[in-house]
Amino acid sequence: MTLIDGRPLAAAIREQTATEVGQLIAAGVLPTLVAVVPSADPATEWYLGSIARAAGQIGITMREARLQDGGSPGLVELIEELSGGPAHGIICLTPLPDGLTFAEVAAHIPARLDVDGANPLSLGRLAAGLPAFAPATAQAVIELLRHEQVALSGAEVVVVGRSTVVGKPLALLLLAENATVTVCHSRTRDLAAVTRRADVLVAAAGQAHLIGAEHVKEGAVVIDVGTNATDDGGLLGDVDTVAVEQVAAAVTPVPGGVGPVTTAVLLRNVLSAARSAGGAPGG
Ligand code: NAD
Repeated sequence: MTLIDGRPLAAAIREQTATEVGQLIAAGVLPTLVAVVPSADPATEWYLGSIARAAGQIGITMREARLQDGGSPGLVELIEELSGGPAHGIICLTPLPDGLTFAEVAAHIPARLDVDGANPLSLGRLAAGLPAFAPATAQAVIELLRHEQVALSGAEVVVVGRSTVVGKPLALLLLAENATVTVCHSRTRDLAAVTRRADVLVAAAGQAHLIGAEHVKEGAVVIDVGTNATDDGGLLGDVDTVAVEQVAAAVTPVPGGVGPVTTAVLLRNVLSAARSAGGAPGG
């Protein structure tokens, strides 16, 4: 059984991105990401810290825009205000103020700045096969599978989770790779019977150790997107790796699998947005 370490791939993406960011900076463009932080939350702060560290290494400028009063009109106005500023990319973190859905808020991030593919328009463009930023996590799964040279064309791929940020866009990206895709969710009858069909199984349910040996076909590749916080400050994936490694050919660990690649892909998207802006920040 192979444990697929995402860190070398993440480092390679960061290195390539840093080289190209350096060229842009030399040409007078400072690739800039703005993270909108609607509310204080330990998991959000941890995520922000990891993006900021990686952005710093690459040479991407990262700014935080914090919502002062938590009011819902405030968040949309803040994003609209930032959209007219010098940013090349805007991401909006969660949790959101009560009464707002992520899709409603993300709809205010212009497509050219939507480096985490959060705007429903980006998802629609992805579905239509038009150029768009895909959510970094979904793209990271594809990058990991490519890097491991896992054949996707014609393969049975099962995605557990149908969220707009992970499961659905990932299903679209996998279809574009010519995989035969099945998406499972909380109402799926007999989850194990479906997941056992998978040559490639992706777990993105947000349920610690949901996937055990009984869910996995012999020799399958298992990608664990889940990040579930434990009471002692640790992280558990959706996959019970110890059990699954008895049957799978390869599994990604949590942490150290999809997560680092996600951050690297997000920052590569900022580079790409800055380049498309043609040297005019925010243009
Ligand atoms: P979500 O709660 O929005 O969606 C979870 C999905 O899983 C839903 O579609 C639900 O129907 C399905 N589900 C829940 N319980 C299930 C069950 N018992 N059986 C089958 N399906 C079930 O979550 P999300 O935002 O898509 O995130 C999923 C997980 O991925 C979370 O753990 C999250 O923290 C993690 N995540 C990781 C990264 C990363 O970069 N590694 C990025 C984003 C999200």
